[in-house]
Formats: sequence, structure tokens, C-alpha cells
Amino acid sequence: MGVANNRSIATSIANVLHQQGAELGFSYLPDSDGRDKMRQRVTKAVAQLDAKFIHSCDVSQDDDIEQFFSFVQQQWSKVDFLVHAIAYAPLDDLRCPTIETSRAGFLEAINISVYSLIAVANRVAKLMPDGGSIITLTYYGGEKVVGGYNMMGVCKAALDHSVRYLAHDLGQRQIRINSLSPGPLRTLASSAIANFSQMQKANAGVTPLKRPLTADDVGHLTAFMVSDRSAAISGELIHVDNAFHVLAGGCNPLD
Ligand code: NAD
Repeated sequence: MGVANNRSIATSIANVLHQQGAELGFSYLPDSDGRDKMRQRVTKAVAQLDAKFIHSCDVSQDDDIEQFFSFVQQQWSKVDFLVHAIAYAPLDDLRCPTIETSRAGFLEAINISVYSLIAVANRVAKLMPDGGSIITLTYYGGEKVVGGYNMMGVCKAALDHSVRYLAHDLGQRQIRINSLSPGPLRTLASSAIANFSQMQKANAGVTPLKRPLTADDVGHLTAFMVSDRSAAISGELIHVDNAFHVLAGGCNPLD
């Protein structure tokens, strides 16, 4: 869940999982004007992946989530893993200082970026009778204050802790849930963040690992996290950021 185009982190994850032999199905956010543009874009992005299905799901709507997973159940009797790569905040609220966030903007961002994980995990767990693995994507701005990340940092903090509570709730059913925390990667969502290019450049200049970070790095980690090789790992937040997170706060690129 979360492919928008070929730059989406979810697309790179899907590419790696496909190379590893996974059978994949995709959700997409339907266009608000009733057109079919988003479906076409997602279809193009995953064209090489033999998708079992590409089906709409607006995760802000309970009915959509229910309808989507009923559809999934008709395609597969069981699901082994789910990747949640979804975040949204209204631009005005994302770009203003956190202290000026509107109530409506905050609630919309939390609804789509955080509550959706809880709703989707609850629904997909019913399709995981033999256990499974759920992955979400977070960012360092949920742990520390990163200039320009603003209220999305508050959302990611809530997402990170939701993962821990969900790991508790799902553990008995052998369902694992973890968050992966990539460093900055240029995508549709990240282009909404003010100064993103500056953040990415500064970040690349200071990371202990001197190598370019790619969305494929996230894909390879995801392949491990949805496989049985990671069977004892749940409730974890794993950085995939060329070790940026080990630096002291003074190295915050936008300070
Ligand atoms: P992206 O824009 O490609 O993906 C965001 C996805 O969220 C899109 O597919 C969009 O359609 C979907 N979405 C938004 N509202 C939705 C709704 N109501 N219902 C269903 N889907 C909805 O950008 P991305 O960078 O690949 O983002 C994926 C995840 O990775 C996000 O959680 C983001 O915060 C996280 N992340 C990104 C970076 C980065 O630098 N790009 C770093 C760390 C974490």
C-alpha cells in the first residue's frame, strides 16, 4: 500500500520483493475527481511485477479498507505480509511551524499517516491465520526535531509507538510489525517538505557510511523483514539511513 509512481519507496520495495519471488497485489489512492489517473500511474510503475491485482483503497475511509481487504480475500485465502508506505498532511500545515498547525490539518494527517496503520493491521491480521509480517515506514523526525519536518514528526512519533503497541497485540498470533526508517529519498511525498533538497544534501555530507542511499536499500531490508529470517523481530524501529541517526544533535543538517 503506497505506490504512487516509480519514485515511491513502495515501488522499490515491490521490485526487490518481486525479484525474491513474492506474489504482489497493490492498493492505490483513488482520484478525488473520479478519473482514473492514479490507477494508470500505479499500473505503469508496477508494470514489470506481474501484479495479482491493483485495487483502490483510500485509507481515510473505513468502508474503503473493508472493501479492499474483502477483495484481497477473494484473490488470496491468506496473506504473508503487508507494506504500509503511506503518509499525508495538508501542505499549509506541513510547511508552517508546528505551533501554527490547524486542528483540521493535524487530524487529517494523523488519520491518514497513523490511524490507517492501526485500521489496516487489524483488517489484514484476519488474513494471516499462520502469522505474518507488517512493515510501515517512518522517519527520524519522529525521534528528534528535524527542521522543516514539523507536524509530520509528531505523526511519525505516534506511528512509531503505535508499532510497539500493535506488536504487543499481534504477537500472540505470530504476526510481527516493524517500522523502517529511511534517510531522505526524493519522492512525491518528500517534495512537499520545505528545504527537502537542502536536507538531503546536508544529510549525505555527514552520514558515517559514505555511499548514496537508495530506495532499493529499503527494499532489501524489507525483504529480510517480511521473511522468516527475521522471525524474532517485532515492535522494532530499524534505521536504513547510512547511520545518520548515530550522530549527535549538533549535526542536524538544518540547525
Ligand atoms: P510517495 O508520495 O511515493 O508515497 C506516499 C503514498 O501515500 C502515495 O502512494 C499516496 O497515494 C499514499 N496516500 C496518501 N494519502 C492516502 C490515502 N488517504 N489513502 C491511501 N493512500 C494514500 O512518497 P514516499 O516517500 O515513498 O512515502 C512512503 C512512506 O515513506 C511515507 O510514510 C513517508 O513518510 C515515508 N518516508 C519517506 C522518506 C523519504 O525521504 N521519501 C523518508 C522516511 C520515510
